[in-house]
Amino acid sequence: MTDKHPVFPKLFEPLDLGFTQLKNRSLMGSMHTGLEESKNGFERMAAFFAERARGGVGLIVTGGVAPNREGWVGPFSIKLTSSREASKHKKITKAVHDEGGKICMQILHAGRYGYHPLCVAPSAIKAPINRFKPRALSNIGIKRTINNFVRCARLAKEAGYDGVEIMGSEGYLINEFIAKKTNKRTDQWGGSYENRMRFPLEIIRQVRAEVGANFILIYRLSMLDLVDEGSSWEEIIQLAKEVEAAGATIINTGIGWHEARIPTIATMVPRAGFAWVTKKLKGEVSIPLITTNRINMPEVAEKVLQDGCADMISMARPFLADPYIIAKAKEDKSESINTCIACNQACLDHIFKQKTACCLVNPKACHETLYKANESNKSQKVAVVGGGPAGLSAAVSAAELGHQVVLFEAKSDIGGQFNLARKIPGKEEFNETIRYYKNQIKELGVELRLNTSVSAEMLNDQGFDHSIIATGVVPRKVNIKGIDRPEVIPYDELLRGEKTTGDKVAIIGAGGIGFDVAEFLLNEASNPQTVNQFAKEWGIDQDFSVPGGIVAPEPHKSHKELYLLQRRDSKIGAGLGKTTGWIHRASLKKAGVQMMKGIKYLEINDEGIKIEYQGTELTLEVDNVIVCAGQESVNILYKDCERRNLPVTLIGGALLASEVDAKRAIEEGLKAAYAI
Ligand code: NAP
Ligand code: SF4
Repeated sequence: MTDKHPVFPKLFEPLDLGFTQLKNRSLMGSMHTGLEESKNGFERMAAFFAERARGGVGLIVTGGVAPNREGWVGPFSIKLTSSREASKHKKITKAVHDEGGKICMQILHAGRYGYHPLCVAPSAIKAPINRFKPRALSNIGIKRTINNFVRCARLAKEAGYDGVEIMGSEGYLINEFIAKKTNKRTDQWGGSYENRMRFPLEIIRQVRAEVGANFILIYRLSMLDLVDEGSSWEEIIQLAKEVEAAGATIINTGIGWHEARIPTIATMVPRAGFAWVTKKLKGEVSIPLITTNRINMPEVAEKVLQDGCADMISMARPFLADPYIIAKAKEDKSESINTCIACNQACLDHIFKQKTACCLVNPKACHETLYKANESNKSQKVAVVGGGPAGLSAAVSAAELGHQVVLFEAKSDIGGQFNLARKIPGKEEFNETIRYYKNQIKELGVELRLNTSVSAEMLNDQGFDHSIIATGVVPRKVNIKGIDRPEVIPYDELLRGEKTTGDKVAIIGAGGIGFDVAEFLLNEASNPQTVNQFAKEWGIDQDFSVPGGIVAPEPHKSHKELYLLQRRDSKIGAGLGKTTGWIHRASLKKAGVQMMKGIKYLEINDEGIKIEYQGTELTLEVDNVIVCAGQESVNILYKDCERRNLPVTLIGGALLASEVDAKRAIEEGLKAAYAI
């Protein structure tokens, strides 16, 4: 009998699987990182997973590995089909086991989502998010595919994994067999539900027979497809029972197909926003259930477990943001956790651009082996000027490397642009990043001097060995007749609450900030949404009255009339994140925001804003105009320092305002610290 953890008793309760025991109830969920296909990928994955094992996670699941070429996610992506390939995985399993961890390999057949011409599916129906049309598998092809799953599981065991996860959700091949939407077969693999379930159940039965009893077999079951013609709740219960009977050790939750048009993991999804789905299944099977999606702090995990939603929780991105999230929870040091803010900007967006995954708040993620401290460097006296994302990252990273750091901030608090971002509805997670940095500053002994303007002379006189200048940006002033009128408001003044608007507003500039400002104006008074509000707004059917769980959305109605304006003729919002841009566009569209591109600004006057649009002059009769036209660098201090030949590094928005974004800023801060 182990003692209960005083703060997180459920999270730290071991889970007995009979033949093996997990030390706690946390699972690092499967994530494709791009390391699978990169140079020295296996060494880098070994370092990546080993660090997470050292951080105390109960069980790790790797990114998806295809059981054959047809199942590739993309051309030449990772597969496991031979002992030669299995031997490479031994680096990973050894590294994790050496740290006292346990790891399962996910077997993922991409089905019709495979981004290559060899992709296959139960029926030859193209996915809306793929340009390749799949070939329908023949009966023999199906049997061969099942054998390939079995071979892959055997090879995973040979490679030293503690188990496998069979990916049966998110709209990949197995899910495609289960749902009527994608399975139009008339043979023994299609038609009735018994026939559509046959494919996953055969895989589980045959894998279990091959690997024996003492091997973890997780089945990831799609509990809420969020597409039409998805599974009904009765079918999901039936499948779960059959999955248990076929030999699975644990059932993990899958939410939403990739083609679903409902956000499932982005930052506006409330924390633990889908735990209710897993809870519905509790009591229907006797094997443990794992719940997932937007669980990003131990407090959230504990609550989900206390509420009886599941037996284990899965977090994926939070382990990119902080490999030690579980270890810190164990020591009751939540305040020192670098929290995943669910932005997708450096993880999923990178993967969609065929780049190695990383993390906006932790640029070392998946790049563990590339950051090496210069051991020969002695501790130096370092000044960091500017307490925004770039400066905070530089100060904390330099202090971690053993330098004596003084952080100067002209304002009365740190945070910079984060202080604006956190005001946007659905972006409240930025509060956590500021909390993290405040804690790190204290823990690492960074000397923080607030309300302090810095001159080059000061840096020289105070004997700093090196200065990192992160003086940030100011909003760009635009040259339109009438721009100085009182009803014209720069976005920062609006977000800081210094000014308010009337009901009719035009927004100049449709970049990330223009979209954010529109969201802000539409939801001015609302707090983070509750799970029920979110479900209603996006049309998620919590009663499961319809298979797939989608009903007509009931968007939040605002009395504001908004115009989002852009001079270029390109698609509005084209520069937003790959995996989140569609959500922002859909959200504003639903709220009735009028988006106008290819316009020319003529004048702001008593009537409103006069523009030229599609060859015609017209006036938008608005009460206010908000300027979101990008930023300009503040780099006077840097230039002064250069003139005096002081050793300085310029980073963040002060270096490049046109591409100002927190991901680049934090990474530059880290790199500047390592370069000292
Ligand atoms: P931005 O993305 O560069 O957009 C500024 C917009 O202002 C442009 O679309 C531009 O469009 C317009 N503009 C530029 N100069 C102008 C002028 N002189 N007169 C009138 N309009 C002008 O900058 P931002 O919106 O400030 O965002 C800054 C950064 O923050 C972005 O790079 C982004 O990475 C990040 N961010 C991202 C998100 C997100 O992805 N959700 C949210 C917030 C911030 P036209 O010239 O065509 O009119
Ligand atoms: Fe989380 Fe954003 Fe980091 Fe991805 S990039 S792990 S979403 S904080």
